[in-house]
Amino acid sequence: MASGMATVMRLLASSYSVAEKAGTIVRRVLHSGDLEIVQKTGVNDLQTLADRLVQKSICASLSRRFPKITIIGEEDLPSETVEEDLIETGQYDVILQKPCPEEYSTLKEEELVVWVDPLDGTKEYTEAAKLLDGPVIVQKRFQNHTAPIRLLDHVTVLIGIAYRGKAIAGVINQPFYNYQMGEDAALGRTLWGILGLGAFGFQLQDVPEGKRIVTTTRSHSNKLVIDAVQAMEPHDVIRVGGAGNKIIQLVEGKASAYVFASPGCKKWDTCAPEAILHAVGGKLTDMHGRAYCYDADVKHMNSAGVLATLRNHQYYASRVPQTVLQALSSD
Ligand code: AMP
Ligand code: MG
Ligand code: MG
Repeated sequence: MASGMATVMRLLASSYSVAEKAGTIVRRVLHSGDLEIVQKTGVNDLQTLADRLVQKSICASLSRRFPKITIIGEEDLPSETVEEDLIETGQYDVILQKPCPEEYSTLKEEELVVWVDPLDGTKEYTEAAKLLDGPVIVQKRFQNHTAPIRLLDHVTVLIGIAYRGKAIAGVINQPFYNYQMGEDAALGRTLWGILGLGAFGFQLQDVPEGKRIVTTTRSHSNKLVIDAVQAMEPHDVIRVGGAGNKIIQLVEGKASAYVFASPGCKKWDTCAPEAILHAVGGKLTDMHGRAYCYDADVKHMNSAGVLATLRNHQYYASRVPQTVLQALSSD
Protein backbone atom coordinates (compact mmCIF):
# COMPACT_ATOMS: atom_id res chain seq x y z
CA MET A 1 0.00 0.00 0.00
CA ALA A 2 1.28 3.44 -0.89
CA SER A 3 0.63 6.88 0.59
CA GLY A 4 -2.99 7.96 1.27
CA MET A 5 -2.32 11.24 -0.54
CA ALA A 6 -2.55 9.58 -3.95
CA THR A 7 -4.56 11.61 -6.48
CA VAL A 8 -7.38 9.07 -6.66
CA MET A 9 -7.78 9.09 -2.86
CA ARG A 10 -7.87 12.90 -2.81
CA LEU A 11 -10.44 12.83 -5.62
CA LEU A 12 -12.51 10.28 -3.70
CA ALA A 13 -12.26 12.34 -0.48
CA SER A 14 -13.42 15.45 -2.37
CA SER A 15 -16.20 13.49 -4.09
CA TYR A 16 -17.46 12.37 -0.68
CA SER A 17 -17.72 15.97 0.60
CA VAL A 18 -19.18 17.19 -2.68
CA ALA A 19 -21.81 14.40 -2.57
CA GLU A 20 -22.76 15.41 0.98
CA LYS A 21 -23.28 19.00 -0.15
CA ALA A 22 -25.31 17.63 -3.07
CA GLY A 23 -27.52 15.85 -0.55
CA THR A 24 -28.23 19.14 1.25
CA ILE A 25 -29.22 20.74 -2.07
CA VAL A 26 -31.56 17.83 -2.93
CA ARG A 27 -33.24 18.19 0.48
CA ARG A 28 -33.45 21.98 0.25
CA VAL A 29 -35.17 21.93 -3.14
CA LEU A 30 -37.73 19.38 -1.92
CA HIS A 31 -38.37 21.40 1.23
CA SER A 32 -38.91 24.53 -0.87
CA GLY A 33 -41.92 22.89 -2.47
CA ASP A 34 -41.07 24.00 -6.03
CA LEU A 35 -39.09 21.48 -8.08
CA GLU A 36 -39.21 23.46 -11.36
CA ILE A 37 -39.67 20.23 -13.35
CA VAL A 38 -38.64 20.05 -17.02
CA GLN A 39 -39.48 17.11 -19.30
CA LYS A 40 -36.32 15.99 -21.15
CA THR A 41 -36.33 14.50 -24.65
CA GLY A 42 -37.13 10.89 -23.68
CA VAL A 43 -40.44 9.51 -22.42
CA ASN A 44 -40.64 9.49 -18.64
CA ASP A 45 -37.37 11.41 -18.35
CA LEU A 46 -37.56 14.39 -16.00
CA GLN A 47 -35.18 17.04 -14.74
CA THR A 48 -35.71 19.19 -11.63
CA LEU A 49 -34.01 22.24 -10.17
CA ALA A 50 -32.13 19.83 -7.87
CA ASP A 51 -30.71 17.84 -10.84
CA ARG A 52 -29.44 21.13 -12.33
CA LEU A 53 -28.03 22.71 -9.17
CA VAL A 54 -26.36 19.51 -7.99
CA GLN A 55 -24.68 18.85 -11.32
CA LYS A 56 -23.34 22.41 -11.36
CA SER A 57 -22.12 22.03 -7.79
CA ILE A 58 -20.39 18.69 -8.34
CA CYS A 59 -18.77 19.52 -11.68
CA ALA A 60 -17.57 22.98 -10.66
CA SER A 61 -16.27 21.84 -7.27
CA LEU A 62 -14.34 18.86 -8.64
CA SER A 63 -12.97 20.58 -11.73
CA ARG A 64 -11.74 23.52 -9.66
CA ARG A 65 -9.63 21.22 -7.48
CA PHE A 66 -8.79 18.67 -10.21
CA PRO A 67 -8.65 20.70 -13.44
CA LYS A 68 -7.29 17.86 -15.60
CA ILE A 69 -9.86 15.16 -14.93
CA THR A 70 -12.65 14.48 -17.42
CA ILE A 71 -16.09 14.90 -15.84
CA ILE A 72 -19.24 13.66 -17.59
CA GLY A 73 -22.58 14.61 -16.04
CA GLU A 74 -26.08 13.48 -16.96
CA GLU A 75 -27.64 16.89 -17.46
CA ASP A 76 -27.13 18.97 -20.56
CA LEU A 77 -26.67 22.45 -19.08
CA PRO A 78 -25.61 25.78 -20.58
CA SER A 79 -22.09 26.70 -19.47
CA GLU A 80 -22.37 29.64 -17.11
CA THR A 81 -20.61 30.90 -14.03
CA VAL A 82 -21.42 28.82 -11.01
CA GLU A 83 -22.49 30.68 -7.86
CA GLU A 84 -19.83 30.49 -5.12
CA ASP A 85 -22.30 29.00 -2.64
CA LEU A 86 -22.53 25.87 -4.82
CA ILE A 87 -18.79 25.20 -4.50
CA GLU A 88 -17.65 22.61 -1.96
CA THR A 89 -13.99 22.62 -0.95
CA GLY A 90 -14.01 19.97 1.80
CA GLN A 91 -12.27 16.59 1.67
CA TYR A 92 -13.48 13.74 3.88
CA ASP A 93 -10.64 13.08 6.32
CA VAL A 94 -11.39 9.40 6.82
CA ILE A 95 -10.65 8.70 3.15
CA LEU A 96 -7.47 10.78 3.18
CA GLN A 97 -6.20 8.65 6.03
CA LYS A 98 -6.76 5.34 4.25
CA PRO A 99 -3.94 3.72 2.30
CA CYS A 100 -4.33 3.84 -1.47
CA PRO A 101 -4.40 0.42 -3.16
CA GLU A 102 -0.94 0.01 -4.69
CA GLU A 103 -2.12 -0.31 -8.30
CA TYR A 104 -3.84 3.10 -8.17
CA SER A 105 -1.24 5.00 -6.17
CA THR A 106 0.40 6.74 -9.13
CA LEU A 107 -2.67 7.51 -11.27
CA LYS A 108 -2.72 11.02 -12.71
CA GLU A 109 -5.69 13.38 -12.98
CA GLU A 110 -5.71 13.17 -16.76
CA GLU A 111 -6.12 9.38 -16.62
CA LEU A 112 -9.35 9.58 -14.58
CA VAL A 113 -12.93 9.92 -15.82
CA VAL A 114 -15.68 10.94 -13.41
CA TRP A 115 -19.31 10.00 -14.19
CA VAL A 116 -21.90 12.11 -12.38
CA ASP A 117 -25.59 11.41 -11.86
CA PRO A 118 -26.61 14.48 -9.84
CA LEU A 119 -29.93 12.91 -8.85
CA ASP A 120 -30.76 9.29 -9.51
CA GLY A 121 -34.43 8.42 -9.02
CA THR A 122 -35.80 11.77 -10.26
CA LYS A 123 -39.16 10.18 -11.07
CA GLU A 124 -39.58 9.05 -7.48
CA TYR A 125 -38.32 12.42 -6.18
CA THR A 126 -41.04 14.22 -8.13
CA GLU A 127 -43.71 11.76 -6.98
CA ALA A 128 -42.68 12.26 -3.35
CA ALA A 129 -42.87 16.03 -3.86
CA LYS A 130 -46.42 15.64 -5.16
CA LEU A 131 -47.37 13.68 -2.03
CA LEU A 132 -45.81 16.35 0.17
CA ASP A 133 -47.75 19.03 -1.67
CA GLY A 134 -45.88 22.17 -0.67
CA PRO A 135 -43.00 23.39 1.48
CA VAL A 136 -42.87 21.21 4.61
CA ILE A 137 -40.47 19.35 6.85
CA VAL A 138 -40.12 15.95 5.21
CA GLN A 139 -39.70 13.97 8.43
CA LYS A 140 -42.80 15.54 9.97
CA ARG A 141 -45.00 14.88 6.96
CA PHE A 142 -43.84 11.30 6.48
CA GLN A 143 -43.56 10.23 10.10
CA ASN A 144 -45.66 7.09 10.51
CA HIS A 145 -46.53 7.37 6.83
CA THR A 146 -47.78 4.00 5.75
CA ALA A 147 -46.90 4.13 2.05
CA PRO A 148 -45.21 0.78 1.38
CA ILE A 149 -42.84 2.21 -1.20
CA ARG A 150 -40.50 4.54 0.61
CA LEU A 151 -40.10 6.86 -2.37
CA LEU A 152 -37.48 9.18 -0.90
CA ASP A 153 -35.13 6.27 -0.19
CA HIS A 154 -34.94 5.75 -3.96
CA VAL A 155 -33.16 9.08 -4.45
CA THR A 156 -29.35 9.10 -4.58
CA VAL A 157 -26.46 11.22 -5.86
CA LEU A 158 -23.83 9.23 -7.78
CA ILE A 159 -20.17 10.07 -8.42
CA GLY A 160 -18.17 7.29 -10.10
CA ILE A 161 -14.45 7.27 -10.91
CA ALA A 162 -13.11 5.26 -13.84
CA TYR A 163 -9.57 4.38 -14.94
CA ARG A 164 -8.77 2.62 -18.22
CA GLY A 165 -12.47 1.97 -18.80
CA LYS A 166 -13.03 0.35 -15.42
CA ALA A 167 -15.19 1.69 -12.58
CA ILE A 168 -12.64 1.74 -9.75
CA ALA A 169 -14.15 3.99 -7.09
CA GLY A 170 -17.44 5.62 -6.24
CA VAL A 171 -19.60 7.58 -3.85
CA ILE A 172 -23.35 7.26 -3.31
CA ASN A 173 -25.17 9.83 -1.19
CA GLN A 174 -28.69 8.95 -0.07
CA PRO A 175 -30.08 12.35 0.98
CA PHE A 176 -33.23 11.16 2.74
CA TYR A 177 -31.87 8.09 4.54
CA ASN A 178 -33.68 7.88 7.91
CA TYR A 179 -36.50 10.15 6.82
CA GLN A 180 -39.16 8.04 8.47
CA MET A 181 -37.37 8.04 11.83
CA GLY A 182 -38.89 11.29 13.09
CA GLU A 183 -37.87 14.92 13.19
CA ASP A 184 -34.77 14.46 15.35
CA ALA A 185 -33.15 11.82 13.16
CA ALA A 186 -30.12 12.94 11.16
CA LEU A 187 -31.05 12.77 7.50
CA GLY A 188 -28.84 11.27 4.81
CA ARG A 189 -25.79 9.05 4.51
CA THR A 190 -22.88 8.51 2.15
CA LEU A 191 -21.53 5.18 0.96
CA TRP A 192 -18.13 5.00 -0.73
CA GLY A 193 -15.65 2.44 -1.96
CA ILE A 194 -12.60 1.71 -4.05
CA LEU A 195 -11.41 -1.58 -5.55
CA GLY A 196 -8.70 -3.19 -3.48
CA LEU A 197 -9.73 -1.47 -0.26
CA GLY A 198 -13.45 -2.15 0.18
CA ALA A 199 -16.65 -0.18 0.62
CA PHE A 200 -17.81 1.76 3.66
CA GLY A 201 -20.73 3.70 5.13
CA PHE A 202 -23.08 0.72 5.40
CA GLN A 203 -23.28 -2.76 6.90
CA LEU A 204 -22.51 -5.39 4.26
CA GLN A 205 -25.14 -8.12 4.38
CA ASP A 206 -26.22 -11.05 2.27
CA VAL A 207 -29.80 -12.20 1.61
CA PRO A 208 -30.78 -15.38 3.48
CA GLU A 209 -29.18 -18.49 1.94
CA GLY A 210 -31.05 -19.76 -1.13
CA LYS A 211 -33.39 -16.76 -1.40
CA ARG A 212 -33.80 -15.21 -4.85
CA ILE A 213 -35.08 -11.67 -4.41
CA VAL A 214 -35.01 -9.58 -7.57
CA THR A 215 -34.99 -5.79 -7.53
CA THR A 216 -36.01 -3.98 -10.70
CA THR A 217 -37.40 -0.71 -12.05
CA ARG A 218 -40.78 0.61 -10.92
CA SER A 219 -41.22 3.28 -13.60
CA HIS A 220 -39.38 2.03 -16.74
CA SER A 221 -40.70 -1.51 -17.10
CA ASN A 222 -41.57 -3.29 -20.35
CA LYS A 223 -42.04 -6.85 -21.64
CA LEU A 224 -38.31 -7.61 -21.80
CA VAL A 225 -37.83 -6.48 -18.20
CA ILE A 226 -40.81 -8.56 -17.02
CA ASP A 227 -39.68 -11.67 -18.98
CA ALA A 228 -36.15 -11.50 -17.57
CA VAL A 229 -37.35 -11.00 -13.99
CA GLN A 230 -39.75 -13.96 -14.26
CA ALA A 231 -37.03 -16.19 -15.71
CA MET A 232 -35.06 -15.82 -12.47
CA GLU A 233 -37.89 -17.64 -10.66
CA PRO A 234 -37.71 -15.15 -7.82
CA HIS A 235 -39.21 -15.74 -4.38
CA ASP A 236 -39.91 -12.01 -4.30
CA VAL A 237 -39.67 -8.96 -6.60
CA ILE A 238 -38.95 -5.47 -5.28
CA ARG A 239 -39.85 -2.67 -7.70
CA VAL A 240 -38.01 0.49 -6.71
CA GLY A 241 -36.51 3.52 -8.44
CA GLY A 242 -32.89 4.41 -8.99
CA ALA A 243 -29.80 2.43 -9.96
CA GLY A 244 -27.93 3.63 -6.86
CA ASN A 245 -30.78 2.56 -4.61
CA LYS A 246 -30.93 -0.89 -6.16
CA ILE A 247 -27.22 -1.47 -5.56
CA ILE A 248 -27.72 -0.42 -1.93
CA GLN A 249 -30.41 -3.12 -1.75
CA LEU A 250 -27.87 -5.71 -2.95
CA VAL A 251 -25.10 -4.81 -0.50
CA GLU A 252 -27.51 -4.53 2.43
CA GLY A 253 -29.04 -7.97 1.87
CA LYS A 254 -32.50 -6.81 0.74
CA ALA A 255 -32.16 -8.21 -2.80
CA SER A 256 -29.99 -10.85 -4.45
CA ALA A 257 -30.11 -9.55 -8.04
CA TYR A 258 -30.79 -6.28 -9.86
CA VAL A 259 -32.35 -7.18 -13.21
CA PHE A 260 -33.05 -4.52 -15.86
CA ALA A 261 -33.29 -6.11 -19.31
CA SER A 262 -33.73 -2.91 -21.28
CA PRO A 263 -31.78 0.07 -22.55
CA GLY A 264 -32.37 3.19 -20.41
CA CYS A 265 -29.67 3.14 -17.74
CA LYS A 266 -26.61 5.22 -18.64
CA LYS A 267 -22.95 5.13 -17.63
CA TRP A 268 -23.52 7.74 -14.89
CA ASP A 269 -26.19 5.44 -13.39
CA THR A 270 -23.88 2.45 -13.10
CA CYS A 271 -20.30 3.73 -12.62
CA ALA A 272 -20.40 4.58 -8.89
CA PRO A 273 -22.75 1.70 -7.98
CA GLU A 274 -20.58 -0.78 -9.93
CA ALA A 275 -17.39 0.37 -8.18
CA ILE A 276 -18.96 0.01 -4.73
CA LEU A 277 -20.50 -3.37 -5.56
CA HIS A 278 -17.23 -4.68 -7.03
CA ALA A 279 -15.27 -3.38 -4.02
CA VAL A 280 -17.21 -5.87 -1.85
CA GLY A 281 -16.96 -8.80 -4.29
CA GLY A 282 -20.16 -8.31 -6.30
CA LYS A 283 -20.60 -7.98 -10.04
CA LEU A 284 -22.40 -5.62 -12.44
CA THR A 285 -22.61 -6.46 -16.16
CA ASP A 286 -25.00 -6.18 -19.08
CA MET A 287 -27.62 -8.91 -19.45
CA HIS A 288 -25.11 -11.03 -21.41
CA GLY A 289 -22.65 -10.94 -18.51
CA ARG A 290 -20.30 -8.53 -20.33
CA ALA A 291 -18.56 -5.69 -18.52
CA TYR A 292 -19.38 -2.10 -19.43
CA CYS A 293 -16.58 0.30 -20.37
CA TYR A 294 -16.39 3.75 -18.74
CA ASP A 295 -13.84 5.47 -20.98
CA ALA A 296 -14.63 9.12 -21.72
CA ASP A 297 -15.57 8.43 -25.35
CA VAL A 298 -18.02 5.53 -24.88
CA LYS A 299 -21.70 5.65 -25.75
CA HIS A 300 -23.65 6.83 -22.70
CA MET A 301 -26.49 4.30 -22.96
CA ASN A 302 -26.12 0.87 -21.33
CA SER A 303 -27.96 -0.66 -24.29
CA ALA A 304 -27.75 -4.28 -23.20
CA GLY A 305 -29.34 -3.71 -19.79
CA VAL A 306 -28.04 -4.21 -16.29
CA LEU A 307 -27.55 -7.39 -14.29
CA ALA A 308 -25.98 -6.95 -10.86
CA THR A 309 -25.48 -9.32 -7.95
CA LEU A 310 -23.50 -9.60 -4.74
CA ARG A 311 -23.11 -13.40 -5.24
CA ASN A 312 -24.08 -16.09 -7.79
CA HIS A 313 -23.89 -13.82 -10.84
CA GLN A 314 -23.43 -16.83 -13.09
CA TYR A 315 -26.73 -18.34 -11.96
CA TYR A 316 -28.71 -15.20 -12.86
CA ALA A 317 -26.82 -14.68 -16.14
CA SER A 318 -27.52 -18.27 -17.16
CA ARG A 319 -31.27 -17.81 -16.68
CA VAL A 320 -31.73 -14.81 -18.99
CA PRO A 321 -34.01 -16.00 -21.84
CA GLN A 322 -32.52 -16.20 -25.36
CA THR A 323 -35.30 -13.94 -26.66
CA VAL A 324 -34.21 -11.25 -24.21
CA LEU A 325 -30.54 -11.68 -25.12
CA GLN A 326 -31.35 -11.39 -28.81
CA ALA A 327 -33.34 -8.20 -28.26
CA LEU A 328 -30.46 -6.70 -26.29
CA SER A 329 -27.62 -7.74 -28.58
CA SER A 330 -26.44 -4.28 -29.64
CA ASP A 331 -23.79 -2.56 -27.57
P1 AMP B 1 -35.08 2.98 -12.73
O1 AMP B 1 -34.71 1.65 -12.21
O2 AMP B 1 -36.28 2.95 -13.62
O3 AMP B 1 -35.21 4.00 -11.64
O4 AMP B 1 -33.88 3.43 -13.66
C1 AMP B 1 -32.56 3.59 -13.18
C2 AMP B 1 -31.90 4.75 -13.89
O5 AMP B 1 -31.95 4.55 -15.29
C3 AMP B 1 -32.60 6.09 -13.64
O6 AMP B 1 -31.65 7.11 -13.66
C4 AMP B 1 -33.51 6.24 -14.82
O7 AMP B 1 -33.75 7.57 -15.13
C5 AMP B 1 -32.70 5.55 -15.93
N1 AMP B 1 -33.61 4.94 -16.89
C6 AMP B 1 -33.97 3.65 -16.98
N2 AMP B 1 -34.83 3.44 -17.99
C7 AMP B 1 -35.02 4.64 -18.58
C8 AMP B 1 -35.78 5.09 -19.68
N3 AMP B 1 -36.54 4.25 -20.39
N4 AMP B 1 -35.73 6.40 -19.99
C9 AMP B 1 -34.96 7.25 -19.27
N5 AMP B 1 -34.21 6.88 -18.22
C10 AMP B 1 -34.24 5.60 -17.87
MG1 MG C 1 -30.02 8.03 -12.87
MG1 MG D 1 -30.26 11.57 -12.79
